[in-house]
Amino acid sequence: MAEKVVIIGSGPAGWTAAIYAARANLEPLVFEGAISEENKLKGTLPLGQLALTTEVENFPGFPHSEGLAFALFSRSALLPGRFESLKHQYEKGPFEKRAVYGPELMELMRQQSINFGTRIVTDDITSIDLKQHPFLLTPLESPPVEALAVIIATGARANYLGIESEERFKNRGVSACAVCDGALPRFRNKPLVVVGGGDSAIEEGTYLTKFASTVNLVHRRDQLRASKIMQQRALSNPKVTMKWNRVVSEVLGNDKDGVTGVRLKSTLDNSTEELACTGMFCAIGHTPNTDFLKGQLELDEKGYIRWTTLNRTYTSIEGVFASGDVADNYFRQAVTAAGTGCMAALDAERWLAAKGFAH
Ligand code: NAP
Repeated sequence: MAEKVVIIGSGPAGWTAAIYAARANLEPLVFEGAISEENKLKGTLPLGQLALTTEVENFPGFPHSEGLAFALFSRSALLPGRFESLKHQYEKGPFEKRAVYGPELMELMRQQSINFGTRIVTDDITSIDLKQHPFLLTPLESPPVEALAVIIATGARANYLGIESEERFKNRGVSACAVCDGALPRFRNKPLVVVGGGDSAIEEGTYLTKFASTVNLVHRRDQLRASKIMQQRALSNPKVTMKWNRVVSEVLGNDKDGVTGVRLKSTLDNSTEELACTGMFCAIGHTPNTDFLKGQLELDEKGYIRWTTLNRTYTSIEGVFASGDVADNYFRQAVTAAGTGCMAALDAERWLAAKGFAH
């Protein structure tokens, strides 16, 4: 029998859609993504981009509180096995007041959806047939599933520069996730490079100052795109050095040591210089996770799903709804993703009812 609603994706959009769909008795099935080496390298593991961040200071409802309070809250709310996955965060501190951690927030949302009856499959959807109804979804390993309505909430993943030398040193000094890799021995007390000028670059750079001797922030212009508060934080950090008007033209290194430096090129006069470092972290924007949708659904020129109706999460196919960063190249916030996740569930519920599918 076809599922009423299948939700693909497990960031704030996916879990919020699941909470609302479950509370509407739609018994949602969530494909949260597979735990695989490929997804790790791409940055598309379950729980989405927030699972790759540290503190989330701008998600409403979580003002700074003691680390111990968060630990007790998580232990009380989460299933024991899932609490275990966060335990290392509590053991290492900080124990003073802090904002909610990204992985913590995602585990709490996931749990909240389970509490209302959401079922979860830890697998990727690799292809989807939206030309038939019920829609047919084919996962990587688990059996195919039919669905009356689908909510796509697969988010977006971090971009790399796309230069050949960068590919050679992935996992040996080149990364797009400071939180995942920053604590590795090769980055400790060594100069590092972060590329980008947005909030991610500042956040990653500031985080890396915990480990690095110096963080060189390489930006192609002379003005940051990041919000003012983040800018102040980075520019006042004595370990951060700005490298304005420059791009990385080559990652330098060898097979034995991995990354040993980068070649920087000036965007003003094309002059070059070498900068010694043991790591380069890219924070230069994102690509939507829509590869599995090509030819099935209308996407924009950057590959984001097109919302087709004002104030609705409708897509070009009736019964398919989109929420979160996969359809939002503009706001891209955890709270806006959660908001559109809620909208997608309400849209799906009303569409199913209007079509007479709901019961
Ligand atoms: P972003 O705002 O799009 O910034 C990307 C940065 O990378 C820009 O500075 C851009 O330069 C640079 N860039 C892009 N392609 C490049 C290339 N090929 N070579 C060199 N530089 C390149 O992306 P983001 O920083 O990931 O932020 C995405 C969204 O998430 C934003 O809405 C942001 O506010 C939000 N966010 C919020 C927080 C927070 O509040 N804690 C943390 C992280 C992200 P130009 O400036 O010249 O275009």
